[in-house]
Amino acid sequence: RGKSEGRNVYRFFEPGMDAMVRARQALETDLEAALPRNEFELEFQPIMNIAAGDIVGAEALMRWHSPTRGLVSPDNFIPAAEETGLIVQLGDWALRKACTAAAGWPHAMRIAVNVSAVQIKSGSFARSVISALAFSGVPAHRLELEITETVLMDESDTVLKTLSQLRDLGIRIALDDFGTGYSSLGYLRRFPVDKIKIDRSFIRDIDNRDSAAIVRTVIGLGAQLGITVTAEGVETEAQLDMLRKAGCIEAQGYLIGVPAKAAQINRLLRSGMALRQSG
Ligand code: C2E
Ligand code: MG
Ligand code: MG
Ligand code: MG
Repeated sequence: RGKSEGRNVYRFFEPGMDAMVRARQALETDLEAALPRNEFELEFQPIMNIAAGDIVGAEALMRWHSPTRGLVSPDNFIPAAEETGLIVQLGDWALRKACTAAAGWPHAMRIAVNVSAVQIKSGSFARSVISALAFSGVPAHRLELEITETVLMDESDTVLKTLSQLRDLGIRIALDDFGTGYSSLGYLRRFPVDKIKIDRSFIRDIDNRDSAAIVRTVIGLGAQLGITVTAEGVETEAQLDMLRKAGCIEAQGYLIGVPAKAAQINRLLRSGMALRQSG
């Protein structure tokens, strides 16, 4: 179905379209009920410092265990939660839950939480973040907020003001899925981020000469700008080796660790300081 057809309003009355709209509404209804029913959970994926071979923290990733739908991927329910505005409540829940988990980790370990543009635009975001830190007792410098370009695409200055306010408190801002958007470089000038996460599509294709060149260039860019670069989706020793030689600072991916339940990550972070040796 071509994008050009999207403007034909009457197409919404096609039977196929109607079914799609109803399926989406059913998803949104189920989502609304899911939070009070405790159907959401966080998993945590470890992040490694490549040169040291140490785990330095973990990223919180949301899971929805629906009694009727089974395990639903965040790629499927986050957009629906953004559309209804539920993401504001759900995001608050995730921040609190993630910080509470991190409060039990060794003190050097950072916690990364994904946040959507809708949350930051809501106006109560800075307050929510500060309250999650206060509630858990986790200091600001251990929290990293992962945003995507869509956050920085926002024209209003509410978003940039909110991010600056949080950054002034010592919270780190990471630009997620770097390289997949329209103008990744442009946004680096728009807002001073602390970290760039190279999208996993570049790491997957790292054998390709062009992808390798892009990865090396982003790593060099990070070094020039004083920004930490993390490679996402590292699955093989060969990929990790290439990243190490290119001077990439951090790596995340199935090779280092898959997303794990809170209790498992707690054990890993307590014991696994030198989980993997470099070289
Ligand atoms: P993301 O923030 O870029 O997270 C990385 C995704 O890559 C995760 O998918 C993770 O499980 C997956 N991944 C990690 N290592 C590997 C690997 O080596 N190979 C492959 N193939 N995949 C790997 P997940 O958990 O399905 O999350 C998808 C996206 O949903 C996230 O992408 C993020 O944008 C969003 N998301 C997840 N949790 C939240 C949340 O609490 N709030 C918001 N706003 N978005 C979230
Ligand atoms: Mg992320
Ligand atoms: Mg990503
Ligand atoms: Mg993503």
